[in-house]
Amino acid sequence: MSDSTAGRAAPLTQARRIVVKVGSALLVDGDSGRLNRTWLETLVADLLQLRQRGQQVLLVSSGAIALGRRRLGLKAGALRLEDSQAAAAVGQIRLAHAYKELLESHDVTVAQVLLTLEDSERRRRYLNARATLESLLALGALPVINENDTVATAEIRYGDNDRLAARVAQMCSADCLVLLSDVEGLFSADPHQQPAARFIAQVRQITPDIEAMAGRALSGLGSGGMRAKIAAARIATAAGCHMCIAAGAAPHPLRRLLEGARCTWFLPSGSPAAARKQWIAGALRPAGALLIDAGALRALLEGRSLLPAGVTGARGRFERGDTVSVCSTDGVEVARGIVAYSDADAARIMGRRSAEIADILGFRGRDEMIHRDDLVLLNAEPAACAG
Ligand code: GLU
Repeated sequence: MSDSTAGRAAPLTQARRIVVKVGSALLVDGDSGRLNRTWLETLVADLLQLRQRGQQVLLVSSGAIALGRRRLGLKAGALRLEDSQAAAAVGQIRLAHAYKELLESHDVTVAQVLLTLEDSERRRRYLNARATLESLLALGALPVINENDTVATAEIRYGDNDRLAARVAQMCSADCLVLLSDVEGLFSADPHQQPAARFIAQVRQITPDIEAMAGRALSGLGSGGMRAKIAAARIATAAGCHMCIAAGAAPHPLRRLLEGARCTWFLPSGSPAAARKQWIAGALRPAGALLIDAGALRALLEGRSLLPAGVTGARGRFERGDTVSVCSTDGVEVARGIVAYSDADAARIMGRRSAEIADILGFRGRDEMIHRDDLVLLNAEPAACAG
């Protein structure tokens, strides 16, 4: 892509399906705690413009907690989890109402979709959520998505809508994800403190250097900050989706992008593995872990499946179809995969030959604990095995 003003917007103009994420700081006025309605009208106009170009649009909208907290009389500063859940319950209904009013005045049907981390981490729920989004798009509705904050507890929440938006982009095979925020993009250092900080217009690969820049950058007002945006970029680009971080505070933020406004683009990784494998590798929180012996590890490294015979232990609670970590004897996570048995059944058949499974369990399941098609080796930094 050329760096010319026109070329800059190419991933957005050429996309078939676009996910746009707006942060709380844009939507809600910090002083009054009210919706920035005039600004929102310009965003809605931009979304409709994309639709008129024949592009499909999904909106991931934050703002529920920010809108609800003032109404409940909650003080400024960090909220306790219960209070943010209460605030979200009050704010989400206001948010949904505003979108309904604004979009339906243009004859566009709006659909509210509230997701939790589990909806993207558990394959069955992931497939379900994906099917719902597909149907909504096919029927011409505009999905407005947020985290289901009122039920998401600390351990099972995204917490930031940047990663949620990336998951949505991955889930519906979007080709472009736009994170509208209160920052213009990625800088080599905090531009407020170092005027010489370089603006990064394009990131081809998320290297440790890029991670370090995100660490130094001033984080935005929302819960995400730059680190969450880089985490989102990892998910999106691995799923073959372009992602950009762009300033959203001025009116018509998407039109500005189309007209070539400066932003940081993250390019999709060159050789995306199959979507299924991406999804497995990207699980934020595997449901449990399987411990394997040295022989099984060798088999995995040769590209073979994990058989019950090579499993020496099962940790955590998981069902058939969940993503689990696969850990070597020294406790390092070496792979992830979709397990064919629940934790209880896995514990009963581990160390045994596949031919014995039917006798032990009373039904004939798969020969493999994790089939090689459902298994991804992790080449990343070795991490200690959780669970
Ligand atoms: N889901 C939260 C809300 O709607 C926002 C999370 C974020 O700031 O990214 O209030």
